[in-house]
Amino acid sequence: MTIERPIDPARSRSVLDPYVDRYAARTAGMTASEIRALFAVASRPEVVSLAGGMPNISGLPLDVVGGAISDLVATQGPVAMQYGSGQGVPELREQITEVMALEGIQAHADDVVVTVGSQQAVDLVTRIFCDPGDVVLCEAPSYVGALGVFKSYQCDVVHIEMDGEGLVPAALRNGIRAVKAAGRTIKFLYTIPNFHNPAGVTLSAERRPEILAICREEGVLVLEDNPYGLLGFDREPMRALRADEPEGVIYLGSFSKTFAPGFRVGWALAPASVREKLVLAQESATLCPPQFSQMAVSAYLANHDWQGQIKQFRELYRERRDAMISALSDLMPVTVRWNVPDGGFYVWLTLPPGINAKAMLPRAVTARVAYVPGTAFFADGFGSSSMRLSYCYPTPERIREGVRRLAGVIEAEMELHSTFGTDTAELRLGAGVDSPGTDTL
Ligand code: PMP
Repeated sequence: MTIERPIDPARSRSVLDPYVDRYAARTAGMTASEIRALFAVASRPEVVSLAGGMPNISGLPLDVVGGAISDLVATQGPVAMQYGSGQGVPELREQITEVMALEGIQAHADDVVVTVGSQQAVDLVTRIFCDPGDVVLCEAPSYVGALGVFKSYQCDVVHIEMDGEGLVPAALRNGIRAVKAAGRTIKFLYTIPNFHNPAGVTLSAERRPEILAICREEGVLVLEDNPYGLLGFDREPMRALRADEPEGVIYLGSFSKTFAPGFRVGWALAPASVREKLVLAQESATLCPPQFSQMAVSAYLANHDWQGQIKQFRELYRERRDAMISALSDLMPVTVRWNVPDGGFYVWLTLPPGINAKAMLPRAVTARVAYVPGTAFFADGFGSSSMRLSYCYPTPERIREGVRRLAGVIEAEMELHSTFGTDTAELRLGAGVDSPGTDTL
């Protein structure tokens, strides 16, 4: 026999989380999204995940990497396994300047700060610049991992319109003026100029000087996040914003997509005064970025044809992009729209009016396909009719199968909508960014 006891609400709350009243206000911005649980299901092998942004490291020569790591332990083990400099290993910082030279950046290794992936660089920059209530300008949509950082520092994100050529200059100018007119402080513009996550678009060469001129005139610092810049399919890398504005731009780079994310090595290139603050912030966060990882990446760059490897990655991703675009063209209803990216990992797809991508996700997962709903990429609840599809990880055959399943789900949703004539939204969205988990980054 079970005895039912009345529930004491105070007690049940404390059983759930005894510290609920003690967390800092900034944790209010750290919330797990309701789609996180769905992604646990989506990671089952029978589901085609078009959700995750995981680099396809199957193309890496694991024997070469393994050899470099065992050499590292044998020849430099005591240094590699020791604490290191808060700014990062000097030799690696030198090599990073060579990587950035491919995008027209002339920099000194002294101005590079190594970070734990570029994700930590976004965090450190926000930590040194932003107080609660400060405004950060972001593209609409923007990278979910950066929105999570901005929210955790209690910043207000103001989205700026993009089109097929990237950030729209007039919208940027109007946005800056409107924020200033409201008496608010803009700390920086966060932008992903190449092969945008999630929008898949690239800021055109014509617009780059215009965007820089507006930011210069309005006194807005630019945070240029560029993990995909070397992964273009059809042409050489574009000139970085930082290449033409060394004092007004903080540039972030990463080895996650051009080598492997497991090393967690990224970097920031910043004007000297900012760089000093970043090193102090890095020391307080981690003492130093991981010495072992940095030396492993450095050995890989020194002893392997890393540019040849990037070429192979470009081919691999191009093949998958082609598979996704041809499957979309062959299988999707005509009212569905998407862009054709010329690099990177992502396609941004927009559904016909009335179809809600977040509400539809459980039905897609039941049909064994997953994507990230567009709302994850906005701080203000927009994006419900869009979704991000990643083609980086599955094989071309699985991509086609995933698109076939998704097309079936969308058709069923359109049928439902035309029968009942209602918006298919079930989940009401509040403003804010919630973290769908690392699967979606
Ligand atoms: N910025 C963007 C735009 C990204 O897409 C990602 C990863 N998906 C990151 C930063 C973080 O990458 P990492 O920390 O692995 O360098």
